[in-house]
Amino acid sequence: MANSDNPGLASAKIGGQLLSETLPKVAGAAAAAGLPDWSAKMPPDIFLQVVEQSSIAISITDSDANILYANPAFERITGYTTEEIEGKNESLLSSKHTPKIVYESLWGQITRLKPWSGLLLNRRKNGEDYVAELTISPVTDDNGNIIHFLGMHRDVNEVHRLEQEVKNQKALIEAVVDVEPIPIAVLDERGQVVLDNHAYKKLVSELDTAEPASGLLKTLDTTFPEMFSARWQARQNFTDLEIEVPVPSGESRWFECTGIWFKQHDPSSKHFFSESAQRSLCLLVADEITELKRKEAAVRQSAMRALLAEQEQKESMREALEGAVYQIQKPLNMVASALGILERRGRDNMENAALYNMLKTAVTDGQEAMSILRESMPRRTVEHLTLVNMNELVRDVLSMFTDHLLRDGITVEWLPCNAVPVVTGQAGRLRSVFKQLIENAIEAVEARVAGERVIHIEVLCNNKNFVDVLVCDSGIGIPSELRHRIFEPFFTTKGARSNAGMGLPLVQNIVMDHGGNCIVENSELFSSQFRVTLPVAGPEADEPGVR
Ligand code: FAD
Repeated sequence: MANSDNPGLASAKIGGQLLSETLPKVAGAAAAAGLPDWSAKMPPDIFLQVVEQSSIAISITDSDANILYANPAFERITGYTTEEIEGKNESLLSSKHTPKIVYESLWGQITRLKPWSGLLLNRRKNGEDYVAELTISPVTDDNGNIIHFLGMHRDVNEVHRLEQEVKNQKALIEAVVDVEPIPIAVLDERGQVVLDNHAYKKLVSELDTAEPASGLLKTLDTTFPEMFSARWQARQNFTDLEIEVPVPSGESRWFECTGIWFKQHDPSSKHFFSESAQRSLCLLVADEITELKRKEAAVRQSAMRALLAEQEQKESMREALEGAVYQIQKPLNMVASALGILERRGRDNMENAALYNMLKTAVTDGQEAMSILRESMPRRTVEHLTLVNMNELVRDVLSMFTDHLLRDGITVEWLPCNAVPVVTGQAGRLRSVFKQLIENAIEAVEARVAGERVIHIEVLCNNKNFVDVLVCDSGIGIPSELRHRIFEPFFTTKGARSNAGMGLPLVQNIVMDHGGNCIVENSELFSSQFRVTLPVAGPEADEPGVR
């Protein structure tokens, strides 16, 4: 509407000047606040209409903030009529809860001829408070003196309410998540944690890594490659996946992880109209189960120890009885042949008859005793053949000695093979092989008065048909002249003991039963070096090949 159509507006004055003249200056002030300055091109009455019809509350004051003009939107928002507000100070709108420092900054800015923008808490005429987003710009005369202030404000109560609601929701979620004693973290696609709880923060300091959650996800990736797609967006939820995390102390910590992927709208404005602008986040829950794992391992080890001890006892009793039978069989055979000689010479001879009867009784009793001995030999429990991972088997056996080795200050060099082929075998009997060899190594190291105390165990898979396991030690060593005898039954360098001299023959027997071999060999690095060679699972095995 042109100003000729509205004579009231055309004659309106502020501060003794025609509003139609003041407004273009005000438009210039608006330009200083960042709005385009159209005052040079637009007729003043257009500005007047724009101000009148604006949905933003616009007021023009003198240099002391006394209101000279207010537009209809100002009336609508504040509830005051033009008549009620005219000549009154803008402070009339103050709720008296805006901190003084805000006003000081506001005035400090506008009196330096700079526009000010910020939030104030205002009160409407009806006593209702509202948050006002206000911009004030100074209007100067030709000499640069402030003659007016232009105030523009809008009611942002709703925006403020929504912001508070979001903050409250976040605080609520954080409080709920914080109560949970299990570490919880939400990660974005770059692996950055966008939300976490106290338990997670504790984990950060314990593990001494910047972002354990992204480390846990990487470990999940490598532990369960079949479950994790390379594309973050395409990932599936997972529950209760157990992973082992090495920690600087050298031990491991175990976590049972659950992950839920969810989508969130991208908050950046560039995706304002785009439906697909969503980002994927992962809620990761990592329940620590290290203690449980330790208990499980302890139970497994003591069960394994008991089983091995029983097996060993049976095997060595068997070997001892077999040895005894072998030893007794020799003289018995001689007596039997003497009996044969007598028989050929003629048993009617009186002299020979008495001797013959004695020898006959000795042979019969001896054979009876031998068959009793054979009968009383403990039966070998038939163990089923399984596919055995030699890394796992040797590590399990080694772990049984951890306390012992630590207590006695023996260093263990444990070198598993990267991709070890499986062996078809009797896991229990193979365990007793390595138990025996490690026990021997510990004894040899402990028998040495001075020098380093090292046991070196290495799984080698250089040959596709065989797996070698080296058990070496820096102990007292085996004199070269005795090496060829150490696998003989009853041969020992350790003096008389219950089952002395039966360990290595037993090892050899078991390894040979598996189609392999155990030898002692020269080593430049160690005092003694045992090599156990076992054939890898053949094509007839259930699951042959590298695992
Ligand atoms: P005041 O006594 O008014 O002052 C508070 C502080 O401001 C003091 O520390 C004082 O040093 C400084 N101050 C005040 N007047 C001047 C001056 N003329 N020159 C230099 N420093 C000064 N306030 C609101 O609460 N709500 C509004 O919507 C609002 N709109 C405004 C719009 C315009 C265009 C202008 C210019 C001011 C507006 N004000 C508004 C500010 C208002 O004028 C008051 O300064 C404020 O409300 C505080 O009032 P008061 O009575 O508590 O304290």
